[in-house]
Amino acid sequence: MNTNAPDPRTALVLFSGGQDSTACLAWALDRYARVETLGFDYRQRHRIELDCRLVVRAQIAAQFPAWRARLGDDHLLDLALLAQLSDTALTSERAIELQANGLPNTFVPGRNLLFLTLAATVAYRRGASVLVGGMCETDYSGYPDCRDNTIKAQQIALSLGLDAPMTIETPLMFLTKAATWRLAQALGGDALVELTREHTHTCYLGERGQRHAWGHGCGQCPACTLRAQGHAQYLAERANLGAAC
Ligand code: ZN
Repeated sequence: MNTNAPDPRTALVLFSGGQDSTACLAWALDRYARVETLGFDYRQRHRIELDCRLVVRAQIAAQFPAWRARLGDDHLLDLALLAQLSDTALTSERAIELQANGLPNTFVPGRNLLFLTLAATVAYRRGASVLVGGMCETDYSGYPDCRDNTIKAQQIALSLGLDAPMTIETPLMFLTKAATWRLAQALGGDALVELTREHTHTCYLGERGQRHAWGHGCGQCPACTLRAQGHAQYLAERANLGAAC
């Protein structure tokens, strides 16, 4: 039984500890009175992501007092069953490759649909009526369940199925990676950009060691390449803006 009435001022952020979901967390903290976070342990090869989640939350709380007051509980769901549903580079030692259909073999069909459904269940229990996710149509990988229409359809299905309003906010849906860095800057200034560079994790291979201009990672995998290109573009645009002033 839901003991908390759904509250439109309370949001649950799907939070992986990566750059995108960190931007989403900041976006939510800027707008909602209470913000909780949800992660999924699906035995991902890069489990370092799960450690980064807690570090990013702690750093946000330490560096942004106004946001600390709004930051609520963290939840981690055990989704070991995803390993049974996939045989991809995320859960085995195979190399990351593009398949014939243009999707990387890290693709788990319908994964975001599963994540959002589970998130809605948690949100309902927690009295939240807003889900915030980093799904993005401009992402290189073109996951069909990241598309805006998919998300809108699921929002309707969840609201009907729960018989409670459930809004899915996707602030990154039409942003480029450079624009996501810009969003972080707009929300939390250079401090949030630096926090993102240092503490968030993106690399598919789970490498942290080397520090590049854009953060830590192997620098070679598709996720690192995308993050590096986005950061370089962000810096170039910033330099141009500075020159124009
Ligand atoms: Zn990498």
